[in-house]
Amino acid sequence: MNQHARVDLAPVPFIDLAAQRRRLGKSVDEAVARVLAHCQFILGPEVRELEERLAKFCGARHAISCSSGTDALQLVLMAKGIGPGDAVICPSFTFCATAEVVALLGATPVFAEVEEATFNLDAASVQQAVAAARKLGLQPKAIIAVDLFGLPADYEEIIKVAAAENLFVLDDAAQGFGATYKGRPLGTFGLATATSFFPAKPLGCYGDGGAIFADDDALADTIRSLRVHGHGTDKYDNVRIGMTGRLDSIQAAVLIEKLKIFPEEIEARGRIARRYNEALGDVAIVPRLPNDCNSVWAQYTIRVPAGGRDGLAAALKAEGIPTAIYYPKPLHRQTAYKHFPTAEGGLALSDKLAGEVISLPMHAYLEEPVQDRIVAAVRRALAR
Ligand SMILES: *Cc1c(COP(=O)(O)O)cnc(C)c1O
Repeated sequence: MNQHARVDLAPVPFIDLAAQRRRLGKSVDEAVARVLAHCQFILGPEVRELEERLAKFCGARHAISCSSGTDALQLVLMAKGIGPGDAVICPSFTFCATAEVVALLGATPVFAEVEEATFNLDAASVQQAVAAARKLGLQPKAIIAVDLFGLPADYEEIIKVAAAENLFVLDDAAQGFGATYKGRPLGTFGLATATSFFPAKPLGCYGDGGAIFADDDALADTIRSLRVHGHGTDKYDNVRIGMTGRLDSIQAAVLIEKLKIFPEEIEARGRIARRYNEALGDVAIVPRLPNDCNSVWAQYTIRVPAGGRDGLAAALKAEGIPTAIYYPKPLHRQTAYKHFPTAEGGLALSDKLAGEVISLPMHAYLEEPVQDRIVAAVRRALAR
């Protein structure tokens, strides 16, 4: 085997966190060392600095860091008093955490359909989910819109339905933070936005973390209280039932450094996605950006007609190229969620997408020769 052939068979990472670490150089090590030196591990100065930088980054009035994306969603619902008898409309084609927090608080997730072109919540189906909830005697209270794979949901349409039905909108931007909708960054749509800093997300830390964005001062105060056991004037004044929902100073220090290179990484992700689209648009259904939207490409997901997907995944695996299925089963088919109601009209498209989607390696450090190798392997597999 010559050297060139060996390079061609080297395993490709799905997300290359090590390449990002090399790019960051000593900056993260030094930032962590500063926390180790001052020893304020909980709510240290880095947490406050990160929150200021995050708020500025997206234009929200408040950024409240917290322990995970899931806790970010839960904190907003807790602050709004969501509980038994309430219905919260969310997509079925998403990660389980979107609906999990609703059920955990004793409320009822009602699953709605997504749009074929974007994989995101369909406003017409939200309306049908509201109708289904009312028929069951539930009080529709909120919509959780997900920015799946990094692409913003259609906020103009969703907010129209929310206003007509008197619901609040929570943006689950766990995959989408950094993206823009009609020129405005996520973090500023609806009542509040939740994001995740799980390592594999576009902006990730080196553990678990998340944040909430909101403009409303009173809501932000309530969320800050809930984040630390429902504190009042100090931590031994307990005015409500809360949780342990803080972000560590070390994770905040890591995120401050990563946020500095995030805009460049978003550009790189966009360039890589466009290259994939040009190279694969004739052999698979590739993701297209709606007008005036930008994606952070948390995943690059194509569709292959049912039956072809397993063969494609196996062929790529044999060549050292990993793939992932987000998501193989929509939530309304999951053991833990299948007893919850669905929108009138059904969720046939969510079922169909779950059988056809496959995600290819995507990160800001994917080099062109490696991408070309992935493209060639996909084209070979689909031509068979
Ligand atoms: C990752 C993710 C979450 C949860 O974030 P964690 O930080 O892992 O708790 C919620 N919703 C969506 C859509 C996600 O992709």
